[in-house]
Amino acid sequence: MIKYSLICDTDHGFEAWFKNSDAFKHQLESGILSCPTCGSESIRKALMAPSVRSTGGWEIPPEPQAEILPPEQTPASPERTRQIQMMTKAAELKRQLLALRRAVEDNCDYVGDRFAKTARAIHDGEEEAKGIYGEATPNEIEALQDDGIEIGQIPWIKQDS
Ligand SMILES: [Zn+2]
Repeated sequence: MIKYSLICDTDHGFEAWFKNSDAFKHQLESGILSCPTCGSESIRKALMAPSVRSTGGWEIPPEPQAEILPPEQTPASPERTRQIQMMTKAAELKRQLLALRRAVEDNCDYVGDRFAKTARAIHDGEEEAKGIYGEATPNEIEALQDDGIEIGQIPWIKQDS
């Protein structure tokens, strides 16, 4: 048996087996051969491309190994885990402080650097009791606390930081 690579007049390539070259010639001349794609009987031999052939038959190149292993999940190091925990805690703290700041701003009057004076005045009953907030120096804070005036300090964080 002999295999020919054939081609029709519209360039459809195909292959066919023949008993020998005479059989090919005979079939070609008697019009038995036709293109399996378009049915044309105008068939000629295509140029044979060199092929690698093993004893077992035509060699089929192995499929490329398409299998891609998923990237290995690297367990977070204890250091990294601790960092994430701290970042989460810091974010939570910031959220709480922002909420506290908003609550103070909504419910208290801003007195700026007159805070110590106003707090004392309220404590002494000279001013109407109300919630105030503002700035005070460490000395002012100490003096207020010494006099038993209740004040609270919160970290005043920026809204957009
Ligand atoms: Zn054809």
